[in-house]
Amino acid sequence: MRGLNGVIAPGSVVGVLGSGQLGRMFAIAARRMGYRVHTLSPDYDTPTGQVADLEVQAAYDDLDAVRQFARGVDVVTFEFENVAAAATEAAAEHAPVRPAGAVLHTTQNRLREKGFLAGAGFPVTPFAAVRSLEDLTAALAALGTPAVLKTAGWGYDGKGQVKIASLEEVPAAWEAVGGQESVLEAFVDFEREVSVVAARGLDGSFAHFGVIENRHRRHILDVSIAPAAVSSRVEREAVEIARGILEGLSVVGVLCVEMFLTRDDRLLVNELAPRPHNSGHLTFDACVTSQFEQQLRAITGLALGSTELLRPAAMANLLGDLWANGDPDWPATCRYPDVKLHLYGKAAARPGRKMGHLTALARTPAEAVERVVGARGALVGVDPINGRR
Ligand code: AMP
Repeated sequence: MRGLNGVIAPGSVVGVLGSGQLGRMFAIAARRMGYRVHTLSPDYDTPTGQVADLEVQAAYDDLDAVRQFARGVDVVTFEFENVAAAATEAAAEHAPVRPAGAVLHTTQNRLREKGFLAGAGFPVTPFAAVRSLEDLTAALAALGTPAVLKTAGWGYDGKGQVKIASLEEVPAAWEAVGGQESVLEAFVDFEREVSVVAARGLDGSFAHFGVIENRHRRHILDVSIAPAAVSSRVEREAVEIARGILEGLSVVGVLCVEMFLTRDDRLLVNELAPRPHNSGHLTFDACVTSQFEQQLRAITGLALGSTELLRPAAMANLLGDLWANGDPDWPATCRYPDVKLHLYGKAAARPGRKMGHLTALARTPAEAVERVVGARGALVGVDPINGRR
């Protein structure tokens, strides 16, 4: 259903490739605005499927299924970026794909992504391409130790990554990444990690959610805080980097730029995610327009919404580990009146699996962190003041 100026108006159908929590929150935002949502993934009864109008179960490389899916929608987007180019091309035969498959192609391979970033003059962690054991030895000599070896394709949340402390560890590290095409990066002794979630509309308009601070545990995002405590110069630079990247890639949609802030206040781009991002989950409760609604507005050709942060906020991920001793104590966490609970509807709680998150709003970012961590502790009987009950 097309309206004026190619706008895909409310009432139209949006197709999502992928069916996890990002698609779920996107679908909630889309349905709130009167859109219908179809989702395609190899799974059934998924986080996205549970709130979508239609859940199609098919492999991403079943191109006939992808074509049929695309025929039934007005625009296709994705929440899972490791979809092969062939699938986005098949979808594009029948409906616009936003962001375009070319954006996925660049960002789903670390070497292509770093090549784009370095080639366009964006600051990146020193790196070298590694395709053999000899390459790895030479790259380590050039970059020094410690360094991090990452597979070029299909990595997320620290999967497919090995830290290398010395030359002796080279053979084991090469084996650990399965001898696959990889990238070696200098290890950055950063001051903190930050991200900018930003959107670019069909008309080239740009909007961003400011700088968000991210704290990781075991390579997985643990807590995000907005606004990040960075200088106004760093904030300006971070936003300009994000703007340049979205423009350079001609993104239509949301893209997250993850960055390291070094101890001497320099920003280095670590990674791009061409979709809403875990660090932007707090925008759901804390901003006038969430990252999910912004994605919808961008891909349907609507004007981008206000990204104003209503109050300082913090988000804490709920990983499957919290289920180790049975179901978490949901009523206890709901006793925190300024904390919002999000659960993704996943049946099996495995360690490290993202099952949900909490968002706290407060007067200051520090207070928001204290509340959200307190509310998460309450789930497993940890009283932040008196210790374990
Ligand atoms: P990635 O999958 O590249 O986002 O890496 C996951 C996490 O590992 C990052 O958020 C950092 O906490 C850490 N990490 C990755 N690369 C580096 C690096 N070159 N130096 C220091 N820490 C890193």
